[in-house]
Amino acid sequence: MENVIDLSNENVVHIKKDKIEYLQFRKLLEFKNLVHCYTLKVHDVNFKMNWDEEHKYILEENYNKICNALKIERKSIIRPHQTHTDCVEIVESDVQEFENVDGLITNKKDLNLVLSFADCTPILLYDPINKVIANIHSGWRGTVQKIGQKAAKKMINNFNTKPENIIACIGPCIGKCHFEVDEDVKNIFEKTFSYFNRNFDIIEKRNDKYHIDTTLINKLMLQEVGVKKENIIESGICTYCNSDYMHSYRANGNQVGTNNIAVLGLK
Ligand SMILES: [Zn+2]
Repeated sequence: MENVIDLSNENVVHIKKDKIEYLQFRKLLEFKNLVHCYTLKVHDVNFKMNWDEEHKYILEENYNKICNALKIERKSIIRPHQTHTDCVEIVESDVQEFENVDGLITNKKDLNLVLSFADCTPILLYDPINKVIANIHSGWRGTVQKIGQKAAKKMINNFNTKPENIIACIGPCIGKCHFEVDEDVKNIFEKTFSYFNRNFDIIEKRNDKYHIDTTLINKLMLQEVGVKKENIIESGICTYCNSDYMHSYRANGNQVGTNNIAVLGLK
């Protein structure tokens, strides 16, 4: 069943193809040597299936659909075991396995970096001069640990990337509208990012709760290492607001097959 809505906006385009739906950044589509997407909910699988028995099958089916739609090989998918760390690793070959890693970088062709998300922030980085890519999973813990910035620094230090050439795309994530936290988490953000002198728009108090703008924080951290403001592109889409079409942990809880997948590769 296709979604009736079209989530396209000035920065992203909503594609419906080969039984899957995904978003692509208009900016990244300008580069013909890139493969990328951010998948939406697939409506033709039964999400009430038993986790243990069916989870692997659903996951494999979804990967097959993604690979078909993007015309990439299943074995080219590099997927780390993500645990909300600040660990970013460089991928050299398709036989590597990554444990407790939340960011991947490569300059090799036909290695498609894949991370999964349900409210957490996807950050895709591309250096079009040296042809280096990074795919980063930045949940609130990753954001506080500055994983997006660390990935950019690793590209700069290891691949000769000039920060002013980096194109950064910040994908759908839980927006300030719905990322509501208590005082303990608010205090962590306040302490970590007070040096930006932007706490007035990073954190907003509503009743007894606090709303945090993680997209803005990630933008500021990328700009801090020299990424140009005009080269940072946001999807402008909140996963919670659009939880009918994308997986949101806060809106839907933990369900089978419940992740949005961000793919980034060089071809
Ligand atoms: Zn929202």
